[in-house]
Amino acid sequence: MKNGYFGEFGGRFVPEILMPPLLELEEAIRDMLPGRDFQDRFQALLRNFVGRPTPLTRLANLSRELGFELWLKREDLAHTGAHKINNTVGQALLAKQMGKQCLLAETGAGQHGVATATAAALLGLDCLVYMGAKDVHRQQINVRRMELLGARVVPVEASTQTLKDAINQALRHWIKEQDTTHYCIGSVVGPHPFPGLVRDLQAVIGREARAQFQEQTGTLPDQVLACVGGGSNAMGIFHPFVDDQSVGLTGIEAAGRGTPGCYHSATVNQGSPGVLQGTKTYLLQTEDGQILPSHSVAPGLDYPGVGPEHVHLQQSGRVAFVQVNDRQAVEAFQCLCRKEGIIPALESSHALAHALSLKGSLSSETQVLVNLSGRGDKDLDIVSEYCSMEGN
Ligand SMILES: *Cc1c(COP(=O)(O)O)cnc(C)c1O
Repeated sequence: MKNGYFGEFGGRFVPEILMPPLLELEEAIRDMLPGRDFQDRFQALLRNFVGRPTPLTRLANLSRELGFELWLKREDLAHTGAHKINNTVGQALLAKQMGKQCLLAETGAGQHGVATATAAALLGLDCLVYMGAKDVHRQQINVRRMELLGARVVPVEASTQTLKDAINQALRHWIKEQDTTHYCIGSVVGPHPFPGLVRDLQAVIGREARAQFQEQTGTLPDQVLACVGGGSNAMGIFHPFVDDQSVGLTGIEAAGRGTPGCYHSATVNQGSPGVLQGTKTYLLQTEDGQILPSHSVAPGLDYPGVGPEHVHLQQSGRVAFVQVNDRQAVEAFQCLCRKEGIIPALESSHALAHALSLKGSLSSETQVLVNLSGRGDKDLDIVSEYCSMEGN
């Protein structure tokens, strides 16, 4: 990364009034984050609150059936049931050391809102979450979780009443309250320094997985797979492997229904360059640059942008990006439940579906590692609804 750019992507495309808090954050990342004080506290919280290290699990039944070795990094076993907590605990700790009193977040499906509210409660910070009014309605359980954790959830009634409107509102709020408030971004997106910060906080996933893999097999995996919404669980597991040229890295995007002209969330595969949420990246847009609606059966993948580093890693040839549709993801979800006794998040099921599709194309020694970014209890209703709609 140079000056906040990954190749030609990244940077900060924000109104001048947001430069001071971004520079303040950049300074804190430089001066506080590497320090003993921050690192000791962060490592202790990851161990004793988040429950790290999460296990590395070899899937004996599926490996036999597929004809290659399949492994999972178990972020589903982290506190709150997904990887998002690694990032929010790190940012909450940093915000606290910076003297901030409030965490501000926006959320679509509500998972990042819950992770932020959790970290805020832990560290005694206020928490304010903007959420599109439609999403508030659709995600009642997560709204109740956030409120139980002490957060204030503000429904955004503007425009489409979904994530992009919540993002606009959160940025407006940050402009006014920047002295007291840290904007806790939930993925490797947004203006510099957020994409690098979130990646570095999530890189604990890849560092653990790399060491665990070496310990259990004596080698490195041949392939690492992760689903990509904004891209934080993927960057987190990819980052420590980027210099290992023998390790293939693949990001899996959501193709939605997978039919021509359907809404989807496959931004790297099907998007085009533009500016979203303060960063130059790929996004789903009309010819005049209006954001297109996105869709995936997995709520956490339903985002019309992607982290700028992913676009760079794709263009430089280091990371391959493939697409998996709703049906394939639901089938992989059911397969992991029945064959291995693990209920995966629908987001992670996209990565798993790609692994299942490799059956017959790999040698029996090939080792494939999938980042299981979260658990699927939250998705049971969506899966039942999907299956009844499809007549299964
Ligand atoms: C939010 C979420 C994702 C997508 O976000 P990334 O930033 O792309 O990781 C993936 N999996 C789960 C379980 C999530 O909650």
